[in-house]
Amino acid sequence: MPVLDQLGRPQRSLRLSVTDRCNLRCTYCMPEADYTWLPKQDILTFDETVRLVSRFMAAGVDRVRVTGGEPLIRQDLAVLVQMLAGLGLRDLALTTNGIHLPEQGSALRDAGIRRVTISLDTLQRDRFRALAGRDRLDAVLAGIDHARQLGFEQIKLNTVVIRDRNDDELVALCDYAESVGAELRFIEYMDVGGATQWDRTQVVPRHEILARLGDAFGGVEPVSDRDWAPADRYRLGTGLIVGVISSTTEPFCRTCDRTRLTADGMWYTCLYARDGIDLRSALRAGADDGELSGLIERVWAGRRDRAAEDRLALRESRRALAGADELRTNPHLEMHKRGG
Ligand code: SAM
Ligand code: SF4
Ligand code: SF4
Repeated sequence: MPVLDQLGRPQRSLRLSVTDRCNLRCTYCMPEADYTWLPKQDILTFDETVRLVSRFMAAGVDRVRVTGGEPLIRQDLAVLVQMLAGLGLRDLALTTNGIHLPEQGSALRDAGIRRVTISLDTLQRDRFRALAGRDRLDAVLAGIDHARQLGFEQIKLNTVVIRDRNDDELVALCDYAESVGAELRFIEYMDVGGATQWDRTQVVPRHEILARLGDAFGGVEPVSDRDWAPADRYRLGTGLIVGVISSTTEPFCRTCDRTRLTADGMWYTCLYARDGIDLRSALRAGADDGELSGLIERVWAGRRDRAAEDRLALRESRRALAGADELRTNPHLEMHKRGG
């Protein structure tokens, strides 16, 4: 029997951050001028990572998503992916900004990545530069094109929707996704660590996204296949399927089966959690497999997290989770450290 947490949720999905470094500076994730990087000696080796993932699997996890920071910056990522694939996971997926897919995509596919999610917030070059801090739209589009040619089982595109920044591109992004055979998911702008410039007036709520899509595409119907996945899926009047992740205005904590492991082995049972569990220290202190599994199961059994629902209750007083000062003293709060 899988261990259930205090709200009756099993643990099934792990976001595995393999680096806190990134080659972009998205304003909703890394808007600051400077960052405190994880020390090299703290980064888990591939063997350590695989050992921890195997302990999560013993506790019920059967899906792993490799993320970061930008995961393709981690040297020899395909070697790690191959080692993870050897564990027999039900699903091994990747979230990336796509820039390095042309060089690494085929090795990653051969190593065992089946599904790829690529972030794409705009199709306009100037806007991309403003939103991502670098002039790399062409590189991202080339990455998407390359992923298509490689024939991954599934390609998804993630768009963070921000009012007055890119919310006039919903239709254009749907058309683009259709043209490349990818499923697009609109993500509400979240007040997570890293998003120090978050303001609730910039959030475009799910109902508004759907109303706009319905107007433009002649209707929108829910697709009733919601599992434990965070995205609700909809069929537009044209037949195109899109997802909406409404973590900010209609959170899905009661079905949340996912946790996050940082590149230095800190484990967070909630995206918003201020404290994590230091699995690296336990591992390096010589804990055996049973002790590591026992620790993971004990923590999961005590889990009560439902932070996005708690934050919803803040209403008008809701602000960014953390300011730049707090992030400097607790850099593990950063989204680019714990993985999106
Ligand atoms: N660098 C990779 C990428 O951008 O796809 C992987 C890591 S990134 C942290 C993972 C996802 O988190 C991205 O799709 C990104 O758009 C999303 N994300 C980061 N900050 C966010 C925020 N404040 N609100 C909503 N989504 C956010
Ligand atoms: Fe980098 Fe991804 Fe964060 Fe953008 S969202 S800064 S690509 S980690
Ligand atoms: Fe899960 Fe925490 Fe996000 Fe709720 S806020 S869905 S508990 S990670």
